[in-house]
Amino acid sequence: MRLANISNRLMLVTRDDRVIDVSHETEGRFSPRIQECYGRWDELREAAGELETATGRALLGIAPEEFGTPAPQPRQIFAIGLNYAAHAAEAGLAVPADITVFTKFLSSLSGPYGSIVLPPGTVDWEVELVAVMGSGGANIGTADAWRHVAGLTAGQDLSERTRQSSGPAPQYSLAKSFPGFGPMGPFLVTPDEYGDPNSIDLSCTINGEQVQTGNTMDMVFPIPEIIARLSRITPLLPGDVIFTGTPPGVGVGRVPQRFLAPGDELVTYVQGVGEMRHRMTPGG
Ligand code: ZN
Repeated sequence: MRLANISNRLMLVTRDDRVIDVSHETEGRFSPRIQECYGRWDELREAAGELETATGRALLGIAPEEFGTPAPQPRQIFAIGLNYAAHAAEAGLAVPADITVFTKFLSSLSGPYGSIVLPPGTVDWEVELVAVMGSGGANIGTADAWRHVAGLTAGQDLSERTRQSSGPAPQYSLAKSFPGFGPMGPFLVTPDEYGDPNSIDLSCTINGEQVQTGNTMDMVFPIPEIIARLSRITPLLPGDVIFTGTPPGVGVGRVPQRFLAPGDELVTYVQGVGEMRHRMTPGG
């Protein structure tokens, strides 16, 4: 099942590419606000599953600016660093023995299309698969973990590398939280849509040139392992967001190094989800 947050309303996207307003079609049984629905995810999926033939607008008629992030107000945002061995190598760091975790602050989250203002410094790209939690919990086992995931989407963990590496300890959370630095979308895809949800292609391009490509099979800690390890320490809540790490090909690991410039178009692809498109604009 594919869902989307369109004009701030939760929409089912049907197999024949129409969008159905779930709240409207269920006569208000579910909130139009997608974030409020993660706590009743099984119920929502069952109801939305019955709406495939309901009346809706053509997906093609939806303007890009109508798409919002599929998780606009998560209570917790986790991001996993160094989760692909080849990316750890290009960063000059060891493959971690346990998950390396930071956050992206809430105000950095944004939708799948539009412009991103470049702050001063060196802004880098990181395509990531993002998991949004359905039912939360503590001490979730790896065998059970996928059942707790509401859906998957594409994300960018944009990173200002100068601030990230300044000071005596890395400033991951702050350097990755400028406005627009956490875009997600355009769709939330339920894990059962994948033959193997542990093997998903992802890539990104700048002005049409492919800079990153990978498959989530190469994760050091696959999503079930991330959920198990996180939930042993901090209970996960419905609607929480997990950025799961980036494959190799970021700008800081290149010789010479390369960073985003005004005018660049960054296209972010995740298999089954589709593409996000963002134009970089100069900061003040
Ligand atoms: Zn990242």
